[in-house]
Amino acid sequence: MPDCIFCKIVSKEIPSNMVYEDDVVVAFKDLEPQAPVHVLIVPKKHIRSLNDTTAADKDLLSHITIDVIPKLAQQCDIADSGYRIVINTGVEGGQTVDHLHFHLIGGRSMQWPPG
Ligand code: IMP
Repeated sequence: MPDCIFCKIVSKEIPSNMVYEDDVVVAFKDLEPQAPVHVLIVPKKHIRSLNDTTAADKDLLSHITIDVIPKLAQQCDIADSGYRIVINTGVEGGQTVDHLHFHLIGGRSMQWPPG
């Protein structure tokens, strides 16, 4: 996926402020943080959006939600105060980068409904 900015971050072709990496996932600080903590968790494999996941991605998705996110929340010191996970999907969902990613947002009180 030569034109995918997140694939270029995964391959380290462009720099990022990376806070976590393993065999299948990277996490880096969002360029335009919406809260004191704003980290993007990105599968190394190019998946366009949540709509494009398949049964083959079950292990990857459970790894992100069960292993990586709680670990990062601890690392960022927001596990106890609370945080929000956002997966913007498609145009009306507000997705601007077509590579599946989870926003980990915290460090302030969240509002509901979201904008
Ligand atoms: P989306 O709107 O849910 O697709 O989220 C894309 C996010 O990627 C936005 O919050 C952007 O600020 C962030 N972003 C775009 N380019 C970069 C980058 O090069 N480094 C870090 N974050 C980025």
